[in-house]
Amino acid sequence: MIQSRRPIIAIDGPAGAGKSTVAKRLAKKLNYIYIDTGAMYRAVTLKAMQAGLDLTDQPAVEKLASRVELRFLSGQVGRVRCDGQDVTEQIRTPEVSRNVSAHVANYSGVRKALVAQQQALGAPGGVVMEGRDITTVVFPDAEIKIYLDASQEERAKRRFEELKAQDREQPFAQLLADLKRRDEEDRNRPGGALVRVPDALKVNSTRLTVDKVIKMIIRKIKKQEREQVIMTWFYTTGYILSSLWLRIFHRLKAYWQKQLPSQGGFILASNHASMLDPTALGVAAWPRELYFMARSTLFRPRWFGWLLHMVHARPVTRGKGPEQDWDLFVKLVRAGKALLVFPEGTRTEDGKLQRGKSGFGRLAHKCQAPVYPAYIQGSYAAWPKSGKYRCGRPVSVYFGPEVPLGDLLEQPGEKKILRQISGRTMEAIAALEAEVRANQATGAQTPPGG
Ligand code: C5P
Repeated sequence: MIQSRRPIIAIDGPAGAGKSTVAKRLAKKLNYIYIDTGAMYRAVTLKAMQAGLDLTDQPAVEKLASRVELRFLSGQVGRVRCDGQDVTEQIRTPEVSRNVSAHVANYSGVRKALVAQQQALGAPGGVVMEGRDITTVVFPDAEIKIYLDASQEERAKRRFEELKAQDREQPFAQLLADLKRRDEEDRNRPGGALVRVPDALKVNSTRLTVDKVIKMIIRKIKKQEREQVIMTWFYTTGYILSSLWLRIFHRLKAYWQKQLPSQGGFILASNHASMLDPTALGVAAWPRELYFMARSTLFRPRWFGWLLHMVHARPVTRGKGPEQDWDLFVKLVRAGKALLVFPEGTRTEDGKLQRGKSGFGRLAHKCQAPVYPAYIQGSYAAWPKSGKYRCGRPVSVYFGPEVPLGDLLEQPGEKKILRQISGRTMEAIAALEAEVRANQATGAQTPPGG
């Protein structure tokens, strides 16, 4: 079976909430890579200070940020190297702390350069990444999101004890004032501000030990893993039963399945002729698991909704037009799933292809993912919209090469562009249909484009 990437654990929270301690221990326990994004902002700050730059000179600092090479040393959790130099201790001075949140972390060019590096570091998965904007900007689709907080007094107290243990004691009142200022700066910067996203697990560590916090996070990960195992079991069982039914009673055949990517998120856009289509396409695309849209009313009663969820159906409210909320589906595709969509919106009345809806264009534009066409043949004869189910009618599914949408996806999502995305996708399905018919006339079985 195709495995998606290992999870990304994203931890955000204010300074001193215990993110580094928790993230390091968690990474060690799970054998994940630990990435401290604060250290990256600190390293750029240190480098700018060492180069004698005026830290209020935004373009100069941004230029420097776009050039620095940052590395986390493997096997030495928490150690960071900047342009070949180990800067782990130097980036922790009070001067760097002050300059990073007051100046460097506010510059959009710096954030852009570091976010790109963070995304590249985390893309393979199996990472614990901590900072301020990981759950919002860097990996908004991370599998596990945590917001770690603690009261300001507690955080200042922890810092006080830490410095005291190192014989670098500082007055508590000053530490508290510093922390308040940094909180203010972190929460109010124009890009990458610290906010809690609704789907993050909120952990207040004021009265919790590190062990307890880790236990809570591991519990969340285990719960998600259990759900995943149950979902895979349901989907596989659904696949076996549907496959038996469609192959025995409809002689289902899938052609050119190799056109589909074996990994990563994409949209599968198919013509829609029958109630049989989602199941037939799901069987034909195996081992890629497809996610489907289903009318939200079907999710009542709740046990049936749960069952639908387990076979990857997700609710969509009919008739919302441009108001349709696609976020759930965009998240699925961005998390590397394959989403089945019928650009025509509803089943055909006469068996012919219909026009694509601009809603499809909007969804594809939001996903910014490749779109592959599918053509399903025979399902209309087997079970048309206003007709009876006929057992024994053959059904076939054909997959085509990626729809060339790159130029349209790059442009702003205006109505005209969205319509063109839908139009071009329907053209690809129509071309696939024409190719299938031409091949059937000559008896050839060459895949499209090959
Ligand atoms: O986490 P740490 O306190 O080491 O981060 C230093 C500073 O870097 C923070 O106060 C914040 O201003 C900035 N930062 C950021 N975005 C991140 C991580 C840190 O702006 N993802």
